[in-house]
Amino acid sequence: MSILVVGSVALDSVQTPFGRVKDALGGAATYFSAAASLYDQVNLVGVVGTDFPPEHLEFLESKKVDLRGLQVKEGRTFRWSGRYDYDMGAAETLDTQLNVFADFHPRLPQGYELSDLVFLANIDPELQVEVLRQVKSPRLTVLDTMNYWISYKKDTLSKALSLVDIVLINEVEARQYSNTFSLIRAARKILDLGPKALVIKKGEYGAVLFYKLDNGDGHPVGGKNGSFVGDHTYFFAPAYPLEKIKDPTGAGDSFAGGFIGYLSRVRNITADELKRAVVHGSVIASFVVEDFSIDRLRSLHKGEVLQRYQEFKHFTHFEHLCVHADTCEMLRLPAEGDLEWVNS
Ligand code: AMP
Repeated sequence: MSILVVGSVALDSVQTPFGRVKDALGGAATYFSAAASLYDQVNLVGVVGTDFPPEHLEFLESKKVDLRGLQVKEGRTFRWSGRYDYDMGAAETLDTQLNVFADFHPRLPQGYELSDLVFLANIDPELQVEVLRQVKSPRLTVLDTMNYWISYKKDTLSKALSLVDIVLINEVEARQYSNTFSLIRAARKILDLGPKALVIKKGEYGAVLFYKLDNGDGHPVGGKNGSFVGDHTYFFAPAYPLEKIKDPTGAGDSFAGGFIGYLSRVRNITADELKRAVVHGSVIASFVVEDFSIDRLRSLHKGEVLQRYQEFKHFTHFEHLCVHADTCEMLRLPAEGDLEWVNS
């Protein structure tokens, strides 16, 4: 399978309480590509200026990322500068210089239109729709966005949301888009536009998956008439508990890389596979924040990913309240599987 990503390739200057970097390799499409290339072949569409250091291109090529779709334009590369305080929850943007990104229009080189999975990273929703018009029946389309487009291009964003299979968004943006504090209501509002699933990222508190189930008669549950939690159309994965965090930049985009990368390897995208994909996303994001820029992804290998995936399984597993008959008796509770007491 091949994965197409369209988004920013940047030079980032970032300050956190644990250090700073200047003009380091960044951008949503870069983080995504470095992460997803652990799973599958990635085709990147974006733009850089003539000042973009060749070693960054060599790094992406070393990850087998196809760069035929990366335009090199006379001028300066997109630059983003931000800082984080101790809570590391949200970046404060200090400066955004669009440079060659200002007039960017995604052009898909021959063959990219046949990509199986498509990730529309955080860019102008008009460009996201342009890309969707150029691809031919992909297996999966996924979209990310940011507060700016919700504030200034909400109608176009709503159109883009209605055209994709899965939406990735952070909790502040989900509330802003839906004008409600309740994430359940926000999820329902977004899913009512058309996507089959939605992942709301909650930073160090994990990620929530909302998805529609087909209830057998072809009607999805979970939209207008469904209740998420009662229909088991809700899944939550915590974030990996890290001792050392240096730089949260790119956590969302590398989450997307793990999430979509994993889905590119599965035969059928079922609810269970979506849950596993959320855990893969969380695992990859947990590595990225351990170092500045994409540095942790330079050396990350599949064995480390699988080991952390196993750890996730262990620390999120818990048993029924009383598994053994004697403890049940002592607690005056029924054993696992016997739920009649709920109604009595
Ligand atoms: P995140 O995963 O949300 O932390 O994304 C961080 C990356 O997004 C950084 O590497 C930035 O270069 C990039 N970025 C920041 N602002 C924008 C923007 N307005 N458009 C596109 N990419 C951006």
